[in-house]
Amino acid sequence: VCPFGAITEVSEIEKVKAAIKNPEKVVIFQTAPAVRVGLGEAFGKPFGTFVEGKMVAALRALGGNYVFDTNFGADLTIMEEATELLNRLQSEEAPIPQFTSCCPGWVEFAEIFYPDLIPHLSTTKSPISILSTIIKTYFAKMKDIEAENIVNVCVTPCTAKKSEIRRPELKASSQYWDIPGIRDTDYCITTRELARWMGEEGIDFDALADSPFDDVFGQASGGGIIFGNTGGVMEAALRTAYYMFTGRKAPAIFLPFEPVRGLDGVKKATVTFGHFVIHVAAISGLANARAFIDDLIARNAFEDYSFIEVMACPGGCIGGGGQPKMKLPQVKAAQQARMDSLYARDAETDIKASWENPAIQKLYKKFLGEPLGEIPESLLHTYFMSKHSLLGKMGQVKPEDNPMST
Ligand code: SF4
Repeated sequence: VCPFGAITEVSEIEKVKAAIKNPEKVVIFQTAPAVRVGLGEAFGKPFGTFVEGKMVAALRALGGNYVFDTNFGADLTIMEEATELLNRLQSEEAPIPQFTSCCPGWVEFAEIFYPDLIPHLSTTKSPISILSTIIKTYFAKMKDIEAENIVNVCVTPCTAKKSEIRRPELKASSQYWDIPGIRDTDYCITTRELARWMGEEGIDFDALADSPFDDVFGQASGGGIIFGNTGGVMEAALRTAYYMFTGRKAPAIFLPFEPVRGLDGVKKATVTFGHFVIHVAAISGLANARAFIDDLIARNAFEDYSFIEVMACPGGCIGGGGQPKMKLPQVKAAQQARMDSLYARDAETDIKASWENPAIQKLYKKFLGEPLGEIPESLLHTYFMSKHSLLGKMGQVKPEDNPMST
């Protein structure tokens, strides 16, 4: 089940099918990193089997006009988030540590239970939301498609993404085109829902011939690929931050960066970037996040860290609530196999860091300008708001019980 966010899985597949049938609509799927190492399990494959090519082929067979890789969005998220980290570390006033914000379960948890942490959250949009925005602005312009005719569908391991895409502020494309009513992402379907849909349509999984992603947003670095694992966002960010801080490619220690790998709920590391010494932590599971943050509060020790990744699901998105189900004793083995599968793919890639992705470089050159520049600020960043008052309504904890409450 989802650890936070959407309690029940409400399928939007009928709406996606209707869009596919509508000749005016251009239906664009994007697939999150962890889906390709979970989907095969629904068709009897061993845990963690890497089925990217069949997944893309299935989405084409179901009627998608384009299939893009959310890993490209992850590379874009890293470009902005690593720049943000550099700016924070060079600023006298900006709050440190920076927390990641790509997990909607964690973001909602922070908004409700730790609203004083909001200034610490990276303002960079999640990989799905960032790619959806780019599709309805840059891609729409490039292909001369009216943004209101694009239907963005994300395929994710995550039930909480169903609520993220409905956040009212995630409508940058509506503001860009000055057309009311456009949402950046229209629908979200989970790995499990995709498998069910494929079954209903009689798609023979084994007979599917591998298909590549569409170009423009089909190429990603190893850093983008490992986003699905706990510690993956951190490792990807460090590979690019190293370059941004020093002007040099990340050394072999980051390829792989073992201290943030593995299924432990809390992982810590210290890295040196030129004259910066950076203490980082990667946390998965909200109970671990709560204990970690409460300890920092109790010890008044926030400045012990520069950068903290939090993912709500144990193991990260590979263990998301929308992945194929399994018996409880198999959970760890499945998570480990999915995690290994993403790391194996990273090991095979020539391009390890997000900044090295030629498609990312081209996007900044042709459209975005510089990270954190005027266009990225308006399209690729978001904001968060306190939902602390919900605590009283939930009848669990009174707002004044939160030690960070002001
Ligand atoms: Fe969703 Fe991943 Fe966060 Fe789980 S860890 S809630 S799957 S974004």
